Amino acid sequence: MDLFYETLKQKGFEGEIDTTDESRQFYSHDASLFELLPQVVVFPKNNTDLERLVAAVNECRDKVPGLSMTARSAGTDMSGAAVGESIIIDFTRHFNQIEEMTSNSSRTQPGVLYRVFEKASLEKGALLPSFPASRELASVGGMVANNSGGEKSLEFGKTENFVAKLNVVLADGKSYVLEPLDRKNLEVKLAEKGLEGDIYRQMYELLDKNYEKIKAAKPHVTKNSTGYNLWDVWDRETGIFDLTKLFVGSQGTLGLVSDINFRLINDKPHNGVLVAFMKNTDNLGEIINTVLTQKPASFESFDNHTLILSIKFFFFFHKTLGWKGLFKLGLQLLPDAFLLFRGIPKLVLLIEFTGETPQEVANKVHAMKMILKPYKLEATEEDSTEAKAWKFRIMRRESFNILRKKVKDKHTAPFIDDFVVPPPHLVEFLPQLSDIIKKYKLMATIAGHMGDGNFHVIPLMKIEDPAERAKLRPAMTEVNNLVLKYGGSISGEHNDGMIRGPWLIEMYGPEVMEFFKRTKQIFDKDNIFNPHKKTDATWDYTMSHIRQHF
Ligand SMILES: Cc1cc2nc3c(=O)[nH]c(=O)nc-3n(C[C@H](O)[C@H](O)[C@H](O)COP(=O)(O)OP(=O)(O)OC[C@H]3O[C@@H](n4cnc5c(N)ncnc54)[C@H](O)[C@@H]3O)c2cc1C
Repeated sequence: MDLFYETLKQKGFEGEIDTTDESRQFYSHDASLFELLPQVVVFPKNNTDLERLVAAVNECRDKVPGLSMTARSAGTDMSGAAVGESIIIDFTRHFNQIEEMTSNSSRTQPGVLYRVFEKASLEKGALLPSFPASRELASVGGMVANNSGGEKSLEFGKTENFVAKLNVVLADGKSYVLEPLDRKNLEVKLAEKGLEGDIYRQMYELLDKNYEKIKAAKPHVTKNSTGYNLWDVWDRETGIFDLTKLFVGSQGTLGLVSDINFRLINDKPHNGVLVAFMKNTDNLGEIINTVLTQKPASFESFDNHTLILSIKFFFFFHKTLGWKGLFKLGLQLLPDAFLLFRGIPKLVLLIEFTGETPQEVANKVHAMKMILKPYKLEATEEDSTEAKAWKFRIMRRESFNILRKKVKDKHTAPFIDDFVVPPPHLVEFLPQLSDIIKKYKLMATIAGHMGDGNFHVIPLMKIEDPAERAKLRPAMTEVNNLVLKYGGSISGEHNDGMIRGPWLIEMYGPEVMEFFKRTKQIFDKDNIFNPHKKTDATWDYTMSHIRQHF
């Protein structure tokens, strides 16, 4: 590695280079099941530093085996894509400026935390609605690279819908702009020399030659973060060729994102929520389909385990809410104490409606309550201002974080954490999922975006125990096979990384897998960007890097 550090310095690298054990240990984990100890963590100062980094890696690659780069923003990735064994590039220290914010767009660096970004956008009346449940922790760069989504994705879709333009540094160590191109501008790119021209020529050839097959490979779900999003790049009808669609969700495996132009929305001014408590999940599939007929703005849920943990670790919310917020939360939860004394509900559903006036929202919420009446739910709470539902919203968003931080004797094991099943199949799917969870004795919490059929099943496991680890692969195989049997996707938003990369071939088949591999090769023939993730992931590598240190 000394050669690499020397080369980097010679090129005038202005950022910091950190090889201390403390930093390497810190960066060896993200929010996934895995650990990879990097050799060095670098903190580039500017775009030229990113170019210097890639150039230094290219220069030293032959003499320093395994030299590669893993981009990292806030490090909350659940698939193991923000860890690597060679160079970690931290974007949060210096790439953290919002360069422009208007009422419908923004230009920002990738290391800006979403919570900071949202504060600035709301000041202009604008919102990036694809924020994840990790909204207090994650960065906008990670949202782009994972194609993240969250509670508002049911109405607005995921991050892919809001990226207008990306500045990227590619494998030749040069900076490029990716944006939608019409036929005329595409022709210009196709005629260019160098890596950019090569990429456009080869990607165009791949996508046009296999047009129907690639379009047909698009999963039939409302959200998907698996594979490379090839089907949305080239549209013969509109004549638009848009490589941002491919880069979003590519988990830093095709290059580095240095700047992002977002389109933003102006959300409706009023919202309200129907909170529904379910005694059991018997009718869940049917209820989901019934709720969807009313076109809610969001439809979230969490289970009894999450509710119990939220109450047990009530003071944890202080971190996000501050003492004032915690006091408010406590006051708001008091009336529910009576409900909870009657027995903890198995599932809490949060069904949100938005509108132009408070009355419009109140009408929609009430209509929903009436429609659900025949299901004899344990209770429903109408809230035409969202104020009362806020307490449950916080629990839903923080559910995984509470598990991660607060349960001491077991660890969160995200491996079946993000599948999507088209809602019409949930009636059949859910009982079978339940059987698998019971068969493997997984103490699992369930939360998710019900409206998309996107479930976050997070088992709590003693992952250091070989008997527990041995459950991972067979349990995942059974769940994923079931998801695929119903035409679902194995990841709606958390993406592939190390955990789902080895599964891409099962989901897409060998031919589409070859298209994915070819794409990676076109952008990054020497595999310098985030190896062992997505198309480059293998079971052996993945399973031999399960976390040992907590
Ligand atoms: C409590 C909790 C709840 C979560 N809930 C959700 C959810 O509701 N929805 C959801 O989508 N996800 C969720 N996640 C997963 C994760 O938080 C999100 O995907 C988030 O957007 C990742 O952002 P990050 O800044 O932490 O990215 P990181 O973890 O730093 O990186 C994620 C990926 O992006 C790549 N990357 C980062 N920066 C760059 C860059 N500049 N250039 C190229 N590649 C880059 C990394 O290499 C990695 O592959 C959750 C995680 C936690 C811990």
